[in-house]
Order: sequence, then structure tokens, then C-alpha cells
Amino acid sequence: MNSFKIVDSHCDTLLKINSGETNFFTKGSSRVNLPKIIDGGVFIQFMAVYVHQHYKPGLSLKRSLELINTFLGIVNDPRLIHIKNKEDLKHLLSNEKKIGLLLSLEGAEPIESIAVLDIFFHLGMRCIGITWNQRNMLADGCNETGGLTHFGKEVINKMSELGILCDVSHLSQASFWDVIKVTKKPIIASHSNCHALCPHPRNLTDSQIKELAQTGGVMSITFYPDFIGLNRNLDSIVKHIAHVGELVGIEHVGIGSDFDGAEFSIPNLENSSKLANLVKELKTSGFHKQEIEKILGNNIINLLKNTLPGGNHGS
Ligand SMILES: [Zn+2]
Repeated sequence: MNSFKIVDSHCDTLLKINSGETNFFTKGSSRVNLPKIIDGGVFIQFMAVYVHQHYKPGLSLKRSLELINTFLGIVNDPRLIHIKNKEDLKHLLSNEKKIGLLLSLEGAEPIESIAVLDIFFHLGMRCIGITWNQRNMLADGCNETGGLTHFGKEVINKMSELGILCDVSHLSQASFWDVIKVTKKPIIASHSNCHALCPHPRNLTDSQIKELAQTGGVMSITFYPDFIGLNRNLDSIVKHIAHVGELVGIEHVGIGSDFDGAEFSIPNLENSSKLANLVKELKTSGFHKQEIEKILGNNIINLLKNTLPGGNHGS
């Protein structure tokens, strides 16, 4: 078992649990499940609600509620803590044996009104990716060119107020810059890499990474093969991590595996249980223990300390 406390800010495993393809509590086929995250040293796992294309737009809300229901069905387990506020985080940090799960949304199609956002908050959602690749009522995604709508701005303001982290992965360039203007809180890119190393529309340019860091945010490097570059290996992932570190400081780097979101994986990092190989690669590349602790966990923990609602709110 890995001795580092790892925070993974993105996986799509809820879809596989919902379909019955995997069981979260046993060593099933999914790249993320409880035995694998324990083996890999994962301490907080973000669990994304992703609404597949064929439900959009009309059935987005229904489908997201089904996936939230799947999440609520597993997070009741006594080994887990549903992270909804600072108190839950404190409880987790003082309890070595528990694993924290954080409910997130990848693409805000279900957010049809501020009242729906309020309901999602009450259900314990604490991170929202404004778009997937396409346009929705809030903003344009990375396959489009427009920015935030008036409603999108209203939602982001309300998210800041409630204590829901704003995720800019998948946004169009214009939407990203609009978020920067609107947000009053630090933001996250939960699973994106560096455009300078792999020029893909899903990756962030150096100027975007600098602005994200200015908010006090975290850029989580992802293992999704298409966003890594020509050499899809551990060394390349470390290069993306190092690039963000050199550009804005190591305090602004995290990881967001996107496990169970991609069909393919990179060698020696096929699932959560293999995260010790990333630790090894970081050490080989010259990162010190304290730097690795920040990259793999503490940076996102600090971000959550800054963005989650206080006390027992939302519990
Ligand atoms: Zn994604």
C-alpha cells in the first residue's frame, strides 16, 4: 500500500456502478473501486456524475438524479465519508481509516434553474464542471467558441456563495476567461493537461494555467491518453506536472485520473491501485517527499478548505 495520501479529482466510475458493470466494494472490473483506491493510497476520490449524450438535453436532470442516487447508495458505507463541508474534511483528516468521496458533476446540463442548483447542493454536490465538450444553458464547451451566458454567470455566483467548487475542465477558451472574471473563489481544472506539451483543445494554455493559479486554484493533471502527447507513459505525466510546477508553483498542481472515463490506459498506471508507480516516477524525476505530498493530495485538500461550506452546513 502506498504511504502517500492521494486525492483524485476525477473519475467516471459512477456510470459503471449504475449500470451494474462493477461493484464499488469488491475487486471488480472498474479502474476505481474501494479495494483499488485503498491499495493505491487514495484518500479522497471525486466521483463524477456524467450525463451521456443520448440523455441530453431533455433527460439530463432525470439521469443525473439516477447517478446521484447511485452515489448516495454507496457513500452510506461506514468506511466512507461524504465530504460536504469543512467539518467532514476535518473528520476525514483526523481519521486515518476512512476514505472521503466528493460528489461532482461533469457538464451542467441538469442545472436548469438556481432551484435545481440548490437541490444538488442539498444532495451534497460540491464540485461542478460547467460544461462537457458542447454548449449548454450555462456556457460553451471546448468544441465551441462562445463564453458564459447570463444564467451561467448567475450559477457561478451562486456556487461561490454555497461552497461548490467550479471546475473549468472541458470549457471553451472564452468560457474559461469569463469564469475568471466572474469567480470569487479558487477554481479547479479537475482533469486537464498542458497545451504547451500537448496542443489539444481539452488542455490549458500557459496563460490559462497562470490565471487559474491566480485564483488560488489547482490544475489536476489527467492520465487520459489523448491529452498526454505522443509518449503516453508515466514520464510524460510527470512532465505535465513539472510544467505546471515551473510555470506557477508546485502548490497549484494536482491529479485527476479520469479512470473509467477512457477505454485505454497508460502502462503501469492502469487503475488506482497502480498509483505507487506515479509516486516512484516523481521521485525518480527529482521531486522531494513534501512536493509529492502537495501534488498528490495536499493542494486539493487546501483548495477544499477554501471552498467547502463551513461547519456542518449541508450535512
Ligand atoms: Zn471529462
